[in-house]
Amino acid sequence: MEFPDKISIANLPTKIEKLEKFSLDNHYNIWIKRDDQTGLEFSGNKIRKLEFAIKEAMDENADVLITCGGIQSNHARTTAAVAAKVGLKSHLVLRGNEVDVSEGNLFMDKMFGAEITFVSEDDYTNNRSEIMNSIKEDLSNKGLKGYILPEGASNVIGSFGYINAYDEILSQEEALGVIFDAIVLSVGSGGTYSGLFYGNLLRKGNKDIIGMSIYGTEDHFREISTNLIKDIGKFTGEYFDVNKKDIIVNDKYLGLGYAKSTKEEVEFIKSFSKSEGIILDPVYTGKAMYGLYKELNDGNINKYNNILFIHTGGIFGWTKEARSLIWK
Ligand SMILES: *Cc1c(COP(=O)(O)O)cnc(C)c1O
Repeated sequence: MEFPDKISIANLPTKIEKLEKFSLDNHYNIWIKRDDQTGLEFSGNKIRKLEFAIKEAMDENADVLITCGGIQSNHARTTAAVAAKVGLKSHLVLRGNEVDVSEGNLFMDKMFGAEITFVSEDDYTNNRSEIMNSIKEDLSNKGLKGYILPEGASNVIGSFGYINAYDEILSQEEALGVIFDAIVLSVGSGGTYSGLFYGNLLRKGNKDIIGMSIYGTEDHFREISTNLIKDIGKFTGEYFDVNKKDIIVNDKYLGLGYAKSTKEEVEFIKSFSKSEGIILDPVYTGKAMYGLYKELNDGNINKYNNILFIHTGGIFGWTKEARSLIWK
């Protein structure tokens, strides 16, 4: 099977390291794949998806990349950064109000010259496609071509980023002399998870792909992922009929909800940083690693020899509000 073409912007392959102290403390072999180091401006998992999606946009002669997300969306920031890099414009539809002092991802969106439309929670939930379509139409009236990326670039073309990453992991296993029998990652819109899941089916990998939801229930992701995996199959011709119950997305670690942290989560992230020299973000990877830690300690995960955790990035999620919890 041939993958679609992509542009090459990310620093790949990202390295895999063993979490020495965390493994010792938890009596387990836990490794981490540093997808937080795919680059500075476009750090994290989204760039892998965008390498494929933006190639498609460029092939279609797009002038403007249109996408959406929360006000601190990593995906929106990555889109703005890549647009600047490849000489396109970007227009972001962000959920929330313009804030006086913009920071984190919003600050970066502005640095990259993104045009931003702020919309209410309600409009975001119910009308974001219409809003993006009308932006595309306005552009078209001005003789410009817009290309719409869905939330998180979690569509078929974006998923190739992690089908590809799966192959990268297989070749790293060989180099390291390790077989990972489980891959654990944070799940937000489901594209990263579905790409890895599809890669595992395609290569008959026999790994458990375990998601930790930071937004949405297990049922929600069973629906999203089985559909996306079917759509990927229709696109590639290598079709897999996935049973919903094979999708493992743990929804026990949502905590206070999207982009809200509990004291325990923040304390965990702090102690993890101190022992490993690796910073996790409060919105995605901190919750996912905390979930993995809890599951290991509760004895719910114990059948694996080597677990690979994907660090999907998100450093700019340490906004003032999130940072303030560290001092409390
Ligand atoms: C978007 C994101 C995720 C989740 O990826 P999805 O493909 O949307 O499920 C995880 N971690 C970070 C840091 C992200 O920005």
